This record gives sequence, C-alpha cells and structure tokens, in this order.
Amino acid sequence: MDNVLNFVIVGHVDHGKSTLIGRLLYDTDSLQPDRIAEMEKMSKSRGRDENEFAYLLDHLEEERKQGVTIDTTQVFFSTDKRHYVIIDAPGHVEFVKNMITGASQAEAAVLIVDAEEGVMEQTKRHSYMLNMLGLKQIITVINKMDLVQYSEERFKQVQSDVQEFLASIGASSDITLPIAAAKGDNIAKPSENMPWHKGPTFLDSLDSLKGRIPAEDKSLILPVQDVYKVDDKRINAGRVEAGCIEQGEAVKVIPSGQKTKVQSVEKFLEEPERACAGESIGITTEDALFLDRGDIVCREGGEPTLADCFRARIFWMSKRPLDTSERLFIRCATQQTRCSIDTIEKRIDSSTLKVLEENGTKLENLEVGEVIIKTKKEIAFDDFNSTQEMGRFVLVKDENIVAGGIITGR
Ligand code: GDP
Repeated sequence: MDNVLNFVIVGHVDHGKSTLIGRLLYDTDSLQPDRIAEMEKMSKSRGRDENEFAYLLDHLEEERKQGVTIDTTQVFFSTDKRHYVIIDAPGHVEFVKNMITGASQAEAAVLIVDAEEGVMEQTKRHSYMLNMLGLKQIITVINKMDLVQYSEERFKQVQSDVQEFLASIGASSDITLPIAAAKGDNIAKPSENMPWHKGPTFLDSLDSLKGRIPAEDKSLILPVQDVYKVDDKRINAGRVEAGCIEQGEAVKVIPSGQKTKVQSVEKFLEEPERACAGESIGITTEDALFLDRGDIVCREGGEPTLADCFRARIFWMSKRPLDTSERLFIRCATQQTRCSIDTIEKRIDSSTLKVLEENGTKLENLEVGEVIIKTKKEIAFDDFNSTQEMGRFVLVKDENIVAGGIITGR
C-alpha cells in the first residue's frame, strides 16, 4: 500500500480536534498497548467513566515540548485502503507558512464543529484559511452529537450554517457527518444512536477522498539544472519533476519551443531507457540543441504555461517589509529571473487570518499576500494544484530568500 493521504484537522478550540485524533488512533489500532493503558488509568483517576482521548494528543504534545519524540507534528494511522498522515497545525502561522512554501502538503481537511456551540469565530477563520490554501476536499464533522441528544434537527441546522458560511467565502464541503468523537459514534462504525444518518462513517469518508495523482502519472517536466560537455556530447542534467522520459521519445523545450528526440537517458554509471519523477538524470538529444539552465524539457501538448505575469499567494518572511516598488528575483524550478510585485490585492495576517488591507503596497514579516507578480522574462509555470514543482517559487533579494509562494492562476 503506497497510497498515502495527508490531511489537517481544524476547528474552534475545544470543539474536539484532539479527541477526534485520539479516537482515530484508537479505532484504527494505531496505539501501543501501554499508551491505551495509560489513558485508561488517567481517565479513571480523573473520575471519568469514559476514556479521555484528547489525553493521547496532549501527551504527544508534552513529549514534543520536552524533545523526547522528534516528529510528533505528524500522526499516522491506516485503514484497509490507505495510510493517513494527520498534519498537525500547532499554529496558523506555521501551517500557513508550511503550506505556502510547500514544506507540508495536505490533500484534504477536516473541519470540526461542536453541535451545541455551532459555527464560531475560529470555525470561520479556519475555513477561510483552508480556502486560501486551495484545499478543496473538506469533510465537515459536527461533533459532540451526544450533547444535543443526537438530534437530527440540530445536525441539519449546524450543517446548513456551516454550508452557508463556506458558500459566502466561495468554499464548499462535500461531506458533512454527525459524530461524537468521545463516544466513537460514526467514527469507525455507524452509530446506533443516529439511525437517521444514512451516510458513511468518518473513516469511510476519508477513504472516499482522492489522493494525490502520483507525480510520474503526470505529463513530463524536466527542468534543466546544468549542461555538461563530455567529449562532443552535451548532457542536460536535471531532476524529473513530473512524468517519465524515455529514450527515443519526441520532446519539446520551453521557452524556445524547439523540438527534438531523446537520444539517451543517462544516470551515474548507467544508461537506463527511461526515468521517472524523482530521478536525477541527464539526457542527450538527437539534434544539437544548446539548452541552458532554466529550460524545461516537456512533451508537446503537456507544456507548462509561459507568461510574464501571474497570480500568487506569497508568505513574506523577512524582517524588512516588502515594498511593491522593489526589484526581486524569482526562482521557480531551475528558472531565475527578475520580477516585481505588481499589486498586493490582499494583505493577510497569517495568525488571525484577517484581511488587513486591500490593494496595499506593503507586506510585513509573516504576512500573506494575494499578489500579482510581473517577471522581466517569461517563465514557465503551472498552477500549484496541478504540478507542485512548477507552481511553487521563492522570491530572493540580495541572495536571501524573502518569501515563498504558490501560483494560483494567471
Ligand atoms: P480541541 O481543543 O479541539 O482539541 O478539543 P478537545 O479534543 O480537547 O475537546 C474539548 C473537550 O470536549 C474535552 O473535554 C473533550 O472530552 C470534549 N469532547 C470532545 N468530543 C466530545 C464528544 O463527542 N462528546 C462530548 N460530550 N464531549 C466531547
């Protein structure tokens, strides 16, 4: 099973995020027996009849703080269908930064809402954040249904409130489920307390989400990193970012538009006939083309977009504020060219997710900007959601990276 889906759980504080994570680990047998025993002991000592699942997460958090475990920002579990990674979002700033700079990649999100409290301030902010980050697969869970006597009417009310809010920001959630994370209702098993819910359980809903299209199933993208001259051969070296490349196949070079055939695919001490996404290789071409760093080898019909202006979301990470009048460099795949920020359509505080200004001229440290970027030369790119490596970039000033960004369209 090499099928993995990364997702994030967001929601208002106390609506049950940690409890849901704890419950998922418990119901999918992902916990060490001593962990379960510890949780049971702790729950009893606090006079609880039920297990306090959130404790499992608090415990991980404790360990993380003490530096005992290295990697607890990610939680793993599996179903029969695939492996899951819950990307923890300890704070918005980190999450937004990681998503925008590509350090972590969630394919889906779970929005958790307390059935009693309904939509709250953070429910709104987090929904906004998911939308801003381009997360389209959203499962909404209405939690703590036990506190509202498993009422279908209350569920429908909260469901419609959530949907109305999502629609108002241009987002949507295809699946909404009534659950009680603490009790296990509709998590791994259909709930006997809610026979009116005919839909899937939470785990079934996760299994129905679409995973990422494997990079090698996409159209070929080979950004040229270096060109070596060996005897009379020119070897164009780079990492295959998407698709596969084969000896003898017809390829096109962007931006020149030249066409040729692949004469050989070369790897250190090997000459494979074919190489796929993730492999660092060199190719020689049948025609003597003079490729250079920054050129993109692709397939006709599967070319990235070529333009000198595009929309993006950037995460500004320099103490010196961005000023729209300044000159920067953009690096995308192996391309580098001069650029400037033409318009800052929205300036967003990454911790509160509040829109601070529309059509502004400055971005401060840790702010997100929805911007239009103009480049001096045309560059090849793709929407981040289709080919990440061609949709992600950094902005550089005086050799320092001052922002990371993703391309959202033209
Ligand atoms: P978080 O802040 O979103 O991580 O919320 P927690 O998981 O810590 O839950 C907050 C409180 O709600 C805790 O006291 C949980 O025991 C309680 N809680 C979580 N899920 C349920 C549920 O399904 N039913 C009830 N009655 N309480 C729940």
